[in-house]
Amino acid sequence: MGLTGLALLLHKVNAMNRQVSYHILQNKSENVDYFQKDAAQYEILRKGFNKRINKYPKIIALCKNTLGVVEAVQYAKANNLLVTVKSGGHSMEGFSCLDGGMVINLSLLNSMQWIDANTIRVGVACTLKQIYEKLIPAGKYLPGGSCQSVGIGGLTLGGGYGLMSRNYGLTCDSLLEATGVTAAGQIINTKEDPELLWALKGGGNGNMAIVTEMTFSVQKAPATMQSFKFRNRDAGISTAIEICRQWFALSKTLPLTCFSAFIFNGRSTYILLTNVGKSNPEVQHFINTFKRNATKFSRGRALPLGQALKAYYGESKPITFKNASAGLYKSFAEIEPVIEQVFNLIKKKPGIMYQVNTLGGKIQSPLWEKNSSFAHRDCIYFSELQAYWESASATRGFLEHFERIQQQFAAAGIKAQYRNYPDINFKNWAEMYYGKNLQRLLAVKRKYDPGNIFGGPQTLNV
Ligand SMILES: Cc1cc2nc3c(=O)[nH]c(=O)nc-3n(C[C@H](O)[C@H](O)[C@H](O)COP(=O)(O)OP(=O)(O)OC[C@H]3O[C@@H](n4cnc5c(N)ncnc54)[C@H](O)[C@@H]3O)c2cc1C
Repeated sequence: MGLTGLALLLHKVNAMNRQVSYHILQNKSENVDYFQKDAAQYEILRKGFNKRINKYPKIIALCKNTLGVVEAVQYAKANNLLVTVKSGGHSMEGFSCLDGGMVINLSLLNSMQWIDANTIRVGVACTLKQIYEKLIPAGKYLPGGSCQSVGIGGLTLGGGYGLMSRNYGLTCDSLLEATGVTAAGQIINTKEDPELLWALKGGGNGNMAIVTEMTFSVQKAPATMQSFKFRNRDAGISTAIEICRQWFALSKTLPLTCFSAFIFNGRSTYILLTNVGKSNPEVQHFINTFKRNATKFSRGRALPLGQALKAYYGESKPITFKNASAGLYKSFAEIEPVIEQVFNLIKKKPGIMYQVNTLGGKIQSPLWEKNSSFAHRDCIYFSELQAYWESASATRGFLEHFERIQQQFAAAGIKAQYRNYPDINFKNWAEMYYGKNLQRLLAVKRKYDPGNIFGGPQTLNV
């Protein structure tokens, strides 16, 4: 929204604020619908992508536009309800829902609009699939994750990394402008406060404003992407550790057009390599090294980007899982003291896997570092622990085992963690996610939500 549009909107909000008590009494508005437990839509709106997590808000405010969010915030304040926000509902720990309180559901905000050939404005509930399907046929790209149903809202506010981040930056690095609603119920555009834009780029999940619209610069899309996979079946622990060590050493030599991941599931190791550019001696050396000992190797054809990305779209329907950040690292040395214990624990529990992904490259650009609150650009690897199961009776065993593995990383002194892969068990979560930027983020929080109305687990508190 341009500033003229914003001025008109602010005028409307002021008029609307005078009428807010009417809406509270009547529960009716053209901008927002409120649902409680007895409503048929409540169950549909309440659920998120992780079937493991069930929370029951007192009110779900389904907002149709930014004015609806203003009204919902006023409603929550008048009724002393803590607020959390849901865009795409993919928070791995269900942070976009809460017990009691109000969920501001933004799932209807999924419009997309070209501003010019290199700029697009999107509603926060747009999924990555929607965005890629709009951009790629136009020859454009926004660096994001690979899962099709992740919402652009939460992804961007926590950083957002993906297959092309080493060349194009994090998703938040492409964010030019955002419109949102403060805890005072006021509409704000980041053009009015660059410090808010800084905060929303990596430190914005549920903290200081409810963002409704985001404007991104988009880049020229690569034409094709090629994928390679290397599997070592029945790798013993010492072989798995050696492959992992080698992967850390070689993956950092890859050109910026490449992404790579190392995975250990207790039985096999897997290495994934994608490339949207030309091969070079480093890529060839990487391929030759891991191909030599792999029990299975596959080399995909270079496919048109839109088609190639579909192979990584993943599940579109909710599943039961726990997936959390297991540390951002600078080198293998950081995990070396505990890697054997970690791999032994993973081997003991089929269904759990450990994955390390490449970061680095242009993510480390000093300009992007300066312009965003994402705190961990010096780390060139991001790791995640994942566990998948179906039966509810297995949940406790998986969660306990998961925690045992996380404790190993804590014992090794791993402190940097990624907010978009939160773990409810992180004790010093604010320092872990926001690192050196925590105090500056708290100052922004104090400005826009001094009463801590935006709440829920692992929300900044002042
Ligand atoms: C299957 C899967 C694959 C994933 N793959 C990747 C990946 O490749 N790369 C990557 O970086 N991440 C990935 N993620 C993590 C993902 O980035 C986060 O879960 C992200 O926060 C989801 O955004 P959302 O809008 O869908 O989620 P939501 O659950 O709606 O929100 C997530 C968090 O952000 C807050 N929030 C959401 N919208 C707003 C808003 N408009 N204003 C203020 N706060 C808001 C919520 O309150 C919550 O704390 C993946 C997650 C899943 C489940």
